[in-house]
Amino acid sequence: MCIFCKIIRKEIPADFLFENGNVVAFKDIHPKSKTHILIVPKKHIETIKDLKEDEEDEILVGKMFLVARDIAKSLKLEGYQTLFNVGRAGGQEVMHIHLHLLSHQ
Ligand code: 5GP
Ligand code: ZN
Repeated sequence: MCIFCKIIRKEIPADFLFENGNVVAFKDIHPKSKTHILIVPKKHIETIKDLKEDEEDEILVGKMFLVARDIAKSLKLEGYQTLFNVGRAGGQEVMHIHLHLLSHQ
């Protein structure tokens, strides 16, 4: 099982900011900016390339951005970046999709 699936199952601790039936968000263990949060679907999908052309995955990815937006708002971030690394060649280390929320604020 991948490390993010273990975090989702609470087998490995993480600093959670959000959880619902489909998505979790927790702080990155090695922050690359003052704020660095990962928004992660509970469903194990390896990369953006593996997303299905179905409503379930469309809604899931849309929800990830809305969670990022809501967390940024709750943290009173005026500006921020949202980023997916895609595949090893794209800098992705954990093969379970996650949206990075980064801010210098
Ligand atoms: P990637 O390079 O795959 O896009 O990003 C993976 C991110 O996950 C990295 O920023 C890394 O610091 C973070 N990360 C890796 N392992 C753990 C972990 O066990 N806990 C947490 N909270 N973050 C992790
Ligand atoms: Zn996983």
